[in-house]
Amino acid sequence: MSLNAQWMQRDLNVLWHPCTQMKDHEHLPVIPIKSGRGVWLEDFDGNRYLDAVSSWWVNVFGHANPRINQRIKDQVDQLEHVILAGFSHQPVIELSERLVQLTPAGLDRVFYADNGSSCIEVALKMSYHYWLNCGHPEKKRFITLTNSYHGETVAAMSVGDVALFTETYKSLLLDTIKVPSPDCYLRPDGVDWETHSRTLFQHMEQALAEHHQEVAAVIVEPLIQGAGGMRMYHPVYLKLLREACDRYGVHLIHDEIAVGFGRTGTMFACEQAGIRPDFLCLSKALTGGYLPLAACLTTNKVYQAFYDEYDTLRAFLHSHSYTGNPLACAAALATLDIFAKDNVIEANRALATRMQQATQHLVDHPHVAEVRQTGMALAIEMVQDKAGKTPYPWQERRGLKVFQHGLSRGALLRPLGNVVYFLPPYIITPEEIDFLAEVASEGIDLATRDQVSVAVSSHHPDFRDPG
Ligand SMILES: *Cc1c(COP(=O)(O)O)cnc(C)c1O
Repeated sequence: MSLNAQWMQRDLNVLWHPCTQMKDHEHLPVIPIKSGRGVWLEDFDGNRYLDAVSSWWVNVFGHANPRINQRIKDQVDQLEHVILAGFSHQPVIELSERLVQLTPAGLDRVFYADNGSSCIEVALKMSYHYWLNCGHPEKKRFITLTNSYHGETVAAMSVGDVALFTETYKSLLLDTIKVPSPDCYLRPDGVDWETHSRTLFQHMEQALAEHHQEVAAVIVEPLIQGAGGMRMYHPVYLKLLREACDRYGVHLIHDEIAVGFGRTGTMFACEQAGIRPDFLCLSKALTGGYLPLAACLTTNKVYQAFYDEYDTLRAFLHSHSYTGNPLACAAALATLDIFAKDNVIEANRALATRMQQATQHLVDHPHVAEVRQTGMALAIEMVQDKAGKTPYPWQERRGLKVFQHGLSRGALLRPLGNVVYFLPPYIITPEEIDFLAEVASEGIDLATRDQVSVAVSSHHPDFRDPG
């Protein structure tokens, strides 16, 4: 038995994998990774895979990056962890100073969590609690966009809209207000992104006008709805939303967990709209993809609403055991150093252009409805019928065929349903981008070549593979 097969067997005896129907592994291999270097992962049989999805969107400067490795090694000999209530440490103080300085002016306070979903919980609770402390207990609902994703914990799921989860767990969820997404894939023919985004804002304006008195915050994924299929929209929507939130006295939460740290072409997506949210949630690339850490930034105005004598019971009594872990903060500091020293955002422009050029030919593919891009995220939407944008039935799992082809050619391309996308580490080379485009094209040809017959059930009509 090959080494891969041996590890897979041991794995399948004891593990339960995330976002996976485990029965799939009766015919799909689990790939045990032995090591990673740069954009490449290597399994126990010596096969290599180009990590086109940055290991679930977290890795920005490659695996085993020498600069991040060294910083963590130094930190582990100094202090691995300490309680952050009543105590503090150098990496968390330095990281907080740098995040305040890097993000839009006015975001002056940093609260830590240890993963993205928890960070969303922090933002939702803080917003609600702020209004409560200000004498507005009635402001307790949240407005969210259709097709959005904000994580897996119950409140984070409540403000999300990925059909499978919202269906299955419906009876557990908070009662949120859902507004149609400005998703520009759905724009009418001949209408540009900006016009479509503006037009769709009417729904948000209406929802705010109608509900603002009972609403604490609007939460959005700025510019790219990631897990919802890399659907994209124009920054004008965020600008209009900021103005409207101010007018109606509602907080604006930006979930930049996936898009923060350069993914959209600017360090943070909110920069493209020239606005400052009331809460900015960061995680994923924050530690370069090394360790779980999340930061919720907010304003001094919010902070002040909690600042009082203890017995007024206005404090934010939320905590996670690993809040502000020093090793994770050290990885984040090393990551921010690389951004500062290597002129990353600038250099990414050439890479983004290369991604566009390398996939240009797919625009005319008979089963590709759209090739869309925002900065270092590029997505290719496979469809049954190009003219009518008719999707393939999700049960056919066409994306899975692209995934399998990718593995056979040495690329980790894990589609979202029928959406094949590139979200690579920023250290990818132009030649590696061309290779990815070649593999993706072959995979799309194979996956769309023939009719597949499957039993189509109507249970989850809108279901898309979530990850
Ligand atoms: C991944 C993600 C989350 C959740 O982060 P986890 O660390 O996986 O809990 C929340 N929001 C967005 C936009 C994400 O992409």
